[in-house]
Amino acid sequence: MTRAAPHVTHEVLNQVPPLAGYDVADDPALLEAVQRETGLGAGDELHQLGQRAGSAQTQELARLANEHPPVLRTHDARGNRIDEVEFHPAWHELMATAVGHGLHAAPWPDGAPGAHLTRAAEFYVWAQAEAGHGCPISMTYAAVPALRHEPRLAERFEPLLASRAYDPGLRVPDGKAGLLAGMAMTEKQGGSDVRANATRAVPAGDGYQLTGHKWFCSAPMCDLFLVLAQAPEGLSCFLLPRVLPDGTRNSMRLQRLKDKLGNRSNASSEVEYDGAFAWLVGEPGRGVTTIIDMVSATRLDCVLGSAAAMRQACVTAIHYASIRRAFGARLAAQPLMASVLADLALESQAATTLAMRLAGAADRAARGDAGELALLRLVLPAAKYWVCKRTPMVVGEALECLGGNGYVEESGLPRLYRDAPLNSVWEGSGNVTALDVLRALARSPGSGDALLAEIDLAADGDRRLDAFAARLRRELKEAVAAGAEAQYRARRLAGLVAVTLQASLLVRHAPGAVADAFCASRLDPGAADSGPGAPFGTLPDGLDLRPIVARSAPATDCG
Ligand SMILES: Cc1cc2nc3c(=O)[nH]c(=O)nc-3n(C[C@H](O)[C@H](O)[C@H](O)COP(=O)(O)OP(=O)(O)OC[C@H]3O[C@@H](n4cnc5c(N)ncnc54)[C@H](O)[C@@H]3O)c2cc1C
Repeated sequence: MTRAAPHVTHEVLNQVPPLAGYDVADDPALLEAVQRETGLGAGDELHQLGQRAGSAQTQELARLANEHPPVLRTHDARGNRIDEVEFHPAWHELMATAVGHGLHAAPWPDGAPGAHLTRAAEFYVWAQAEAGHGCPISMTYAAVPALRHEPRLAERFEPLLASRAYDPGLRVPDGKAGLLAGMAMTEKQGGSDVRANATRAVPAGDGYQLTGHKWFCSAPMCDLFLVLAQAPEGLSCFLLPRVLPDGTRNSMRLQRLKDKLGNRSNASSEVEYDGAFAWLVGEPGRGVTTIIDMVSATRLDCVLGSAAAMRQACVTAIHYASIRRAFGARLAAQPLMASVLADLALESQAATTLAMRLAGAADRAARGDAGELALLRLVLPAAKYWVCKRTPMVVGEALECLGGNGYVEESGLPRLYRDAPLNSVWEGSGNVTALDVLRALARSPGSGDALLAEIDLAADGDRRLDAFAARLRRELKEAVAAGAEAQYRARRLAGLVAVTLQASLLVRHAPGAVADAFCASRLDPGAADSGPGAPFGTLPDGLDLRPIVARSAPATDCG
């Protein structure tokens, strides 16, 4: 009797091996920025973290943390409230790595030049492992400058916030090996408009009792939260512990977790405070002034996180197109695909360069540099607006470079795509950050001068940039003169600020091919059918694309 041959329908050909086992930190735009900003090369720790972020094991942790999202356990079996959030072990492993590398508050007590910049570079690298757990990491980092408004509390909690021990679980904060901090500002009736907060704060003992709700409180398993509430003197900032010093749970009830578009590994909750105890931070009635320091630091992380998402999308697309063949050639060698990849690479490199320039400014501002503080005041909201808005477009286009495979979960791009809009939504949505650029111009006149002085460092480097800088100078002046009427064009102005600064940084620091292509496609009035408004892959003719794409290729690429 003859046996049937094994059921073989096809051989697997022309499929691309996954991009794994590479050093995420092997990123020229990043490494050159670290060198520039610190005067030193990147340390071993950055590359160790990069290897870890690009490993197959970490990619698996990221998958598990997102496919097994957190679960809220409001009550125990006997009906007692417990308000616990349960996470998959993969989440805890990602968190332990982030905290172990000091991506949360570790640079604050250090204070050495470059400590915040190094942390920013590491955050950018590790964000490419998994974005969701970056939320409590960023909030913990950002909580410290706000907490310092109350030196007594900062002295007590800052060493624990800065500790490199990841110590999850509901216990008295003072007794833990390490702490995490969250923030609760948004309420049902108002998020951007925080002055609409309705939570009441009544003096009680050495603190206040808070009663009200919060509509978005991410990472509710944190140990401490900065919360806004209405004290008798007006809107004030408070520090609310989840567990009270006597070991009992604070009256902070988790009502439910949000069912979100992306960011699924992270928990975002709705919270009720029923006479919850909290300490005042900063002056009563000056809550916005106090918490704004936290908002600035999280905005920087939004820019870094979005630049990281662009970079991740870009390397994935370049890796794929360097191997996959169609119509007799590798995709990357097809002229139109080369234009798409180069355009994505330009956007990604410009975002990384701008993000790291801001991280350098934040590092120096933390040590008292007033000029850098003025620059940040204007450029940070502009960059948050622009870089975060560009991210979903970059990720969507990168996804398409993989064809149908890019639309499939295993490619990693659907998760990146779902996560991509988030940084634009929170900590000041697009309109709010664009309007903040106008506010900075009106209230901090030195910020416009700081921006123009920075751009002028590239004067005479490229005629298109010079023309754009002159236009920016004019429009800044007009915006100041127009007052509230400038609101209508705030997005245009914020975009102009970000793109002109990106171009000036690239003209000064990037290889000639990159700077030339960026100016030709983003600034040249003759390139009306390319530029930021057009889809990617519409670069003008005559550009040298190979070095642009090579600069964004992952180090393992077989291309
Ligand atoms: C995943 C996720 C996690 C979050 N985590 C937290 C958290 O941990 N803590 C926290 O406090 N909040 C958190 N938020 C809330 C977030 O910060 C708010 O959603 C955001 O600030 C916008 O507020 P809102 O939703 O009330 O929208 P609204 O303030 O109602 O704004 C709606 C739209 O109107 C626009 N807009 C507002 N004012 C103006 C104006 N004057 N002119 C023109 N346009 C305007 C906004 O840009 C936005 O596009 C989170 C949100 C998300 C999605």
